[in-house]
Amino acid sequence: MNCPHCGVHVDEHEASSCFDAWIAADVMELAIAYSSEKAWYEDVETTFVTLLGSKIKDYSGDIAAAWQVLMAHPERVTIWKDKDGWTCCFYAMGEAPPIWRYKGKATTAHLAICRAAIKATKECE
Ligand SMILES: [Zn+2]
Repeated sequence: MNCPHCGVHVDEHEASSCFDAWIAADVMELAIAYSSEKAWYEDVETTFVTLLGSKIKDYSGDIAAAWQVLMAHPERVTIWKDKDGWTCCFYAMGEAPPIWRYKGKATTAHLAICRAAIKATKECE
């Protein structure tokens, strides 16, 4: 699964406004508009804004914002930290017993949550 804006794989995508826009549109289901006339794939530095004009939250870089992503699916998610960093996992809907299928790993909890949430939303491992 690659970012629709810059093409970077979800497991490699760093925290950025680009990733935040991806989360906002696909996980949080917010309407996204772009502040530049340039095609979005030519300018990943474009400032992403919502249609209401408020700046998209820093989901991939701020734990309070990332927690809202996690709380959009609280029954499906777990998160932990070990010596390798943070891991966030979602399981597929309707699966019993649950299998932790959609895993995001990162050095920060917020980035791990965002990586796992994209995979869970798109149901790709
Ligand atoms: Zn991107």
